[in-house]
Amino acid sequence: MGLFGRDKSAPVPGMGKQSISDLTNMAKQMQEQAMAQAAAFQQASAPPPASADGTTAPAAEVGSMTWARRVMAILAPTEPGFVKRCNCAVCGAPKKLPTTNAYVYCDYCASLCDFDLRRACEGDTAPGPEYAAIVNGAHASMQAAVAAGDRDAYRALQKQVFEAFVANVPNAMSHRARNDAAYREAYVNYMAEGATVRAFDPAAQALEAEMKQRVMSLRYGGNMMAPTVEADSFWPMAETLEKQLALFATLYRSTGVVELDPDHAEHLTTKMGWSGFCQGWLAMLPEDAAAQLLQRAGLTNDYVAIEVETGQPRHCGGCGGEFHALPDAKAVVCDGCGRTVDLGSAEIPCGGCGATMTLPRGADHIACPFCQTDVEQVGIR
Ligand SMILES: [Zn+2]
Ligand SMILES: [Zn+2]
Ligand SMILES: [Zn+2]
Repeated sequence: MGLFGRDKSAPVPGMGKQSISDLTNMAKQMQEQAMAQAAAFQQASAPPPASADGTTAPAAEVGSMTWARRVMAILAPTEPGFVKRCNCAVCGAPKKLPTTNAYVYCDYCASLCDFDLRRACEGDTAPGPEYAAIVNGAHASMQAAVAAGDRDAYRALQKQVFEAFVANVPNAMSHRARNDAAYREAYVNYMAEGATVRAFDPAAQALEAEMKQRVMSLRYGGNMMAPTVEADSFWPMAETLEKQLALFATLYRSTGVVELDPDHAEHLTTKMGWSGFCQGWLAMLPEDAAAQLLQRAGLTNDYVAIEVETGQPRHCGGCGGEFHALPDAKAVVCDGCGRTVDLGSAEIPCGGCGATMTLPRGADHIACPFCQTDVEQVGIR
C-alpha cells in the first residue's frame, strides 16, 4: 500500500513525557484511534500514544467517531449504485464496478487505483493494547538508533512495529493482505524502509520537529467525550503536513522506497498521507473546517454511476464470492478475500459440487471453497 508511515501510533520522539491535561490526553487518544483506522501517514502528525485505556465516544458530537462518519456522509455522500470516480493509473480504465473496501482496485488490470476515505471511515479498526505496547516498547530503542546513526537497528524496530500492525489492525490494510503472506511481508518492508528514510533525513527531521511544535500549539475545546480542535490552531499543522508530503514523495523516489510498494501506487502516496491525516483529525473539526480540510487535501469524493450491465458473473476460486468481470478485463482483486483473480480463462467447474470458479493468479489448482475438492486449471502444465 502506498502509504506513508503506517505506524501512526508510533510516538513522536521527545513528546512521550509531556505532562498534559486530561482533555488533551483524551483528544490525543481520539486522534490515535482514528489514525489507527486510517491507512495512514502518522509520524508527522500523530501525538504520542496515550496509555491504552482510550474509549471511543459514542455520541454524534463534534469530536466523536460518529461525528467523523457523519461529516463524511455530509461532505462526500454516496448513494447505492454509485462508485468513486477514478481512472486506473496503469491501464487508464475508469472505475465502473462497485467496491466494498477503502482500497479501490482497477476492474480491468487489478492495479490499485484509488483510496476511498469515506469507506475507510466506516469501520472501527482501533488497535488493541497489544499493538500499543509493542509501539511504546520500541520507542526508546528507536530514538537511540536514530541518535546512534544506526539505520539497521532502526529499520529492524520499524519492522517489528509494522508486523504488529499487520497482525493487530488488519482492517486498516488493503484486503489484498488477507490471504497473501508475500504481500504482507512486502508491505512491512516498504513501510519500515519509508520510516527509516524519513527518520534519517535532515530535512524530514526538521519538518518533524516543526510538526511537533504545531501539535503542541493546538488548542482543544469540546468536552472529554468529544474533544474538538480550534480551526485556527489546526491550519498550521496542515501546512506542515503539506510540506512533509511533498518532501516524502521526493525522498521515496530518490531512495527507491517507491519500488518497494507492493501495490506499486506511487501516484497515491500523497493522497494516502492526506487520507490518514484526515482520518485522524476530521472528527475533531466542525463541519465548515472539515469541508475545508477535505477540499485542501483533494479528497472531496466524486461518485459516478456503477456500470455492471456488461459484466459477466464470475466466482472467486479463493472464497467462492461472486463478482462481475467486464469485457476485456484481465484481472481483478476479489473484494471478498483480496486474492487477485486472473480472468484469462473460462470458469472451471468443481468435480465435487459443480460450483464454477476462476482461479487466483499463480494457482493451477485450489481446494473448492464450498466442498474442498481439488479443482485444477486445465491446460496448464
Ligand atoms: Zn487498470
Ligand atoms: Zn475471493
Ligand atoms: Zn466444490
